[in-house]
Amino acid sequence: MPELKARFAELFGSTPELVAQAPGRVNLVGEHVDFLDGFVLPFAIEDVTTVAIARTVQPTIRIASLQQTDEIFVVQMKDLAPMTGEAWTRYPIGVIWAMRDSLDFRGGFDILIDGKVPLGAGLSSSAALECAIATALNHLFNLNISEPVLARIAQKGENVYVGMPCGIMDQSVSIMGRKGSALLLDCRDLSTEHIPFNISPLGLELLVIDTQVHHALVDGGYAERRASCEKAVAVLGITSLRDISVADFVARKSELDETTYIRAFHGVTEMKRVLDGVAALKAGDYKEFGQIITASHISLRDNYTVSCPELNVAVDTALSLGALGSRMIGGGYGGSAIALIRADQTENMKKAIASAFAAAGFISPRFFTSLPSDGAQIVK
Ligand code: ADP
Ligand code: MG
Repeated sequence: MPELKARFAELFGSTPELVAQAPGRVNLVGEHVDFLDGFVLPFAIEDVTTVAIARTVQPTIRIASLQQTDEIFVVQMKDLAPMTGEAWTRYPIGVIWAMRDSLDFRGGFDILIDGKVPLGAGLSSSAALECAIATALNHLFNLNISEPVLARIAQKGENVYVGMPCGIMDQSVSIMGRKGSALLLDCRDLSTEHIPFNISPLGLELLVIDTQVHHALVDGGYAERRASCEKAVAVLGITSLRDISVADFVARKSELDETTYIRAFHGVTEMKRVLDGVAALKAGDYKEFGQIITASHISLRDNYTVSCPELNVAVDTALSLGALGSRMIGGGYGGSAIALIRADQTENMKKAIASAFAAAGFISPRFFTSLPSDGAQIVK
């Protein structure tokens, strides 16, 4: 923090009015169901993105990031429009753009960013950055925007300004996450419930394994998978895959073609896994919860078919060493996996997974650990 302020002073010749931070996230269970009005169960991680900000009289945004070059990017407030600006600056500027009508402000901003959430590792450094900016502006202008609405604004910045059609999970948990809890988010109405996930006193830890690979989907992309789920909803005459039980869905198998059935089967069972997982956590049954996480991986691998050899090796190795549960997270075909493990296993686990990757000829994975943490807040 003192370094951030000192650097801000060097760059802009003033002190920041306010410093805000927002965390990245991991999703415990509920993968590829946010766009199906499903349930997800992410938690906010300890790593945060911090933004120092000051209003300026000039109607200009001057912005820099400690994770990028020393260059200060300059954008005129009047020129803000979707898809303009340099690549990384679109994320923070997109939020200013999304909030511009609430600001009633003729000036500009000096902004310095310091992100501790690893970029592009599937931990949502993008949402952390957006939510830190949104939180800073909410406080700076005393807007009193509610947490779910602030998440929507940050998402709008990414959807419209950056042009990335992300769901609402990342921004919701980056803003509403709570220490010691996972966030049950209903993607239909954005209602939330904090679910106890206080793993540290239990001697547990969540290991994130970043495979550092990003393969292209070979047999049709995400849009086709999503379309299959939507087709199942239409053919079955239901409003959402959440509105049919697994038994009823299976009983109506003959009404769907094989591909539609198997992809939608993932959706139906994954939503149930989230609710079953919540019940297990409420009962304090982490063994059961781990098995649900692993079942999610098997479904993503075999039914939704979005895993890849690197993710499978990570998961299989973690499970063979006694992880309570493990699965790929995010879109798939690369990116990261998680493993719920005993904290005293962490070093062995990392070594074994790194060796398994080397033996398979994969590039070395990166590892992160994290505990559930608080959402976005003002630091000063
Ligand atoms: P993820 O959200 O999984 O980390 P994304 O590709 O969605 O991956 O977002 C990463 C992008 O967000 C980066 O390439 C960069 O453009 C932007 N970004 C995130 N954090 C920072 C930061 N600290 N400084 C500058 N840009 C950042
Ligand atoms: Mg992202």
